[in-house]
Amino acid sequence: MNTIEQLQPTLVRQFSQIVGAGNLSAAYIFAGAAGTGKAALAQWLAMRLFCQNVQAGRPCGECAECQRVLSGNHPDVVWLNPEAKSIKVDDVRAMRQEMSKTGVEGNRRVFVIEGAERLTAGAENSLLKYYEEPVPGMTIILTTTAKNQLLPTIRSRAQVINFPKPPAASVQEALTAKGADARLAAVASNLTADIAAASALIEDESFDKRVTAVLQLVSQLGKNDATAFVAVQTTLVPLAKTLPEQTQTLALLGLAYADALNQHYHVQAPRTYGNDLAILALAEQPGSRLSTGLAAVLTAEIRLGQNVSFQSAVEALVLQLLEG
Ligand SMILES: [Zn+2]
Repeated sequence: MNTIEQLQPTLVRQFSQIVGAGNLSAAYIFAGAAGTGKAALAQWLAMRLFCQNVQAGRPCGECAECQRVLSGNHPDVVWLNPEAKSIKVDDVRAMRQEMSKTGVEGNRRVFVIEGAERLTAGAENSLLKYYEEPVPGMTIILTTTAKNQLLPTIRSRAQVINFPKPPAASVQEALTAKGADARLAAVASNLTADIAAASALIEDESFDKRVTAVLQLVSQLGKNDATAFVAVQTTLVPLAKTLPEQTQTLALLGLAYADALNQHYHVQAPRTYGNDLAILALAEQPGSRLSTGLAAVLTAEIRLGQNVSFQSAVEALVLQLLEG
């Protein structure tokens, strides 16, 4: 089975029906978080349109046409995904030339721009003409993690398809299927729905250390052990030097409080940290204290984004968590 069919089964089914009924629109915006399969669905759609061996509404993935789409060599599938931070008018020039060619009648053509939030206003305006006068058979797909950054004139002429995040459990399953450590896979899949990003976390040794340090802190907090305050400077700060690492450390602590709350109230929800003893001990605290604690962690995350240093934000947080 194709990964995109596992990741976004509903969208795949819908697009299979749309193509089958000949109702494909001229312009789509595939919007959603990283790792939700936007580009993969665009590729699936291109294969579905050109495949010579469609079965049950699905492209075979093996015929010459499918292979050309997969290898990026299909003449009627034009893909733009430069590495630069912005996509400028010059970058879209070749695509515009292709768009202006009048294809053979009934000829299908697919144009994909990945990370379209990077398009400069000039580049968007230079594409706009093709949105105003769509050529029959032509479909433009923009993929984006930030659809609101696109020009309203582009957004209003396209159908916006929102890509839901896959549940953590399915990300976790995919990670362990690739051989990842089960404990780290469970934690990483609760931090990001992007399998590639989660894999990178698991391969990063410092991630494992941060998870361990956060659970150690949780263990101290569960015992109302005042040395938790000291641990911020001695253990957490050295392990979280960059802002992403600091944000991640607080997110890990937030997930611990969420687990403890679920445990406390016997909520049947998947646990990020399984049955870790530190979480079970923390869950013995009163429910009101745990929910106040979770709120305090979220507040600390906001403070961190407001240029408060990691050390002072977490020290203030730990004092609050110790006092209950
Ligand atoms: Zn095929």
